[in-house]
Amino acid sequence: MTQQIFCQDSYLQTIETIIDAVDLINGCTALAFEENIFHPKGGGQPSDYGEVIIAEVHYPVRTLQKKKDRIFVVLDCEIPDADNLWGEEIKCSINWERRHQLMRYHTGGHVLMSSARQVVSGYNPKGMDIQESLDYGEITFFADQEIVEDQAVQILNIAKQAINSNLGVEAKSYGNLELAKNENELCFRVDSDLKLKGKVRVIVIDGFDANPCGGTHVKSLTEVGNIEIKSISYNEIKKEANIKFVLS
Ligand SMILES: [Zn+2]
Repeated sequence: MTQQIFCQDSYLQTIETIIDAVDLINGCTALAFEENIFHPKGGGQPSDYGEVIIAEVHYPVRTLQKKKDRIFVVLDCEIPDADNLWGEEIKCSINWERRHQLMRYHTGGHVLMSSARQVVSGYNPKGMDIQESLDYGEITFFADQEIVEDQAVQILNIAKQAINSNLGVEAKSYGNLELAKNENELCFRVDSDLKLKGKVRVIVIDGFDANPCGGTHVKSLTEVGNIEIKSISYNEIKKEANIKFVLS
């Protein structure tokens, strides 16, 4: 089974590994590796891009696709006789500029979610999304009422204060959800439609937030940078609030 290195070290930009599965997806060669650094689209986070270097030839990554519980890296072409690549040593390199932006936005989403939790009545988290274009991120949560201007200011101030305090961010592993909840009682939150069984990976922002998540995040909040609210909307029927945010 592939080791998902992006979970262990989000900052790793290149890796040398071995091809242990070859497939053809939509006419392009698709490869799986013993160790993988590419984060696939999921949990509101768009996919990484980058390249795979095989025998000194650089192949751009077109997309990542989950198939048979594996993450396949789909290249932008079909390599002739690709089946001969099994067991080949290769190098993978992620598009670091994009990855770091994704890490910043993802962590910024956690901060804003936790800030909303502290301000909004009836708060229940639903999820977060980051635009493929990286233009903005958005968080969605249930709330008793529309978010008014004063609350938006409070949410943003709490988020900015946490970022300026440079709180640490750590991925912790727990045997199950209950253990994670008990250890992080005061700041624990979990997306309402998330069904989690067995081991959980929880992103803990020191004393501020704890949330099960499989994404990539920065190590300290100053890396998130300046956060501003782009827009707020509220769906009266669903009782759902949405905040779009931008980083700079
Ligand atoms: Zn996350």
